[in-house]
Amino acid sequence: MSKIKILDETTINKISAGEVVDRPSSIVKELIENAIDANSTQITIEIKNGGIKYIRVTDNGDGIPPDDVEIAFYRHATSKIQNYQDINNIYTMGFRGEALSSIAAISKLNLYTKTQDDILGTHVEYIGGKLILKENIGCPSGTTLIVEDVFYNTPARYKFLKSESVETKHLIEVASREALINANISFELISNGKMIFKTSGKGSIEDNIYDILGYQLKGHLIPISINKEDILIKGFVSDLDFYEKNSGDILFYVNNRYVFDNDYKKTITESYKSLLTRHQYPVAVFNVLLPANRVDINVHPSKLYVKLYDKDLIFNAIEQEIKKKLVKERSKTIDIAID
Ligand code: ADP
Ligand code: MG
Repeated sequence: MSKIKILDETTINKISAGEVVDRPSSIVKELIENAIDANSTQITIEIKNGGIKYIRVTDNGDGIPPDDVEIAFYRHATSKIQNYQDINNIYTMGFRGEALSSIAAISKLNLYTKTQDDILGTHVEYIGGKLILKENIGCPSGTTLIVEDVFYNTPARYKFLKSESVETKHLIEVASREALINANISFELISNGKMIFKTSGKGSIEDNIYDILGYQLKGHLIPISINKEDILIKGFVSDLDFYEKNSGDILFYVNNRYVFDNDYKKTITESYKSLLTRHQYPVAVFNVLLPANRVDINVHPSKLYVKLYDKDLIFNAIEQEIKKKLVKERSKTIDIAID
């Protein structure tokens, strides 16, 4: 008998879940992104105990038709791409079809979903990736996912979870980044019954910055808009009468997707060099909108890193424009002082 065996789907999902889901905040990220992709205008996120015990994400989006609900939980099942070519033209947040199967594999999950066209919705329950219950049910149009007892069946992962307050901090960070840039969606984040933030969904990123990063920024934001060929760079930076003690609010987005990029952080700090002192950091939020084939988002399963083909051009433009605006700001202040 052969010693080599192909693992069953539940085991594969449990193993590969680690790439997509490493802590409660990554579950919340995936669920929010699914809600965004489903054309929602309202997303409510409710968590308890840092998301370890309980996460609920409710949206008013497209919903999943009854026949598709079970398929959505298969690995690599997605409605967003059909072949490898499509990866060059992605404007949705998801495309790998890994989130639902991964999350279901390491938690107790309930999903309620209904499309506009259906009279009845569907409720499914998965425990450790196994379908326990499926029923028709009356529910509002849209989707609600409830995820409980994260990593209950993967003790090694569970052990790596930090304290509830640290997990809550990560979760607020992730939800904030998503909410801030999606200004046409009204977001609400509630942690242990307490409202953390709420955005209006009225389309203003500037208002979202105040609602999420804080009202102390009012009167201190400089808008920036740069157009280079088919690339549009839009953002806000803080003026020189404002600074923060860490670089946590230097945020970068590519086609509305939050991404990590150390060169971006360097670009921003370089732009403020000699204008702010050491340990003083600006707020800088930039969103680069470009054709999907100018960026590779398939670098890592978390989709937090991207390859930007026009990186130098973009970062040079950002640096020059910030410097120009800050000099202008400064001369304005000097003018007022002289007057
Ligand atoms: P991906 O987002 O990469 O397609 P997921 O595993 O996150 O993969 O989701 C699988 C599929 O389930 C999605 O392609 C989508 O069709 C459906 N789906 C998941 N969440 C939602 C939601 N909140 N609203 C509507 N459809 C959803
Ligand atoms: Mg997804």
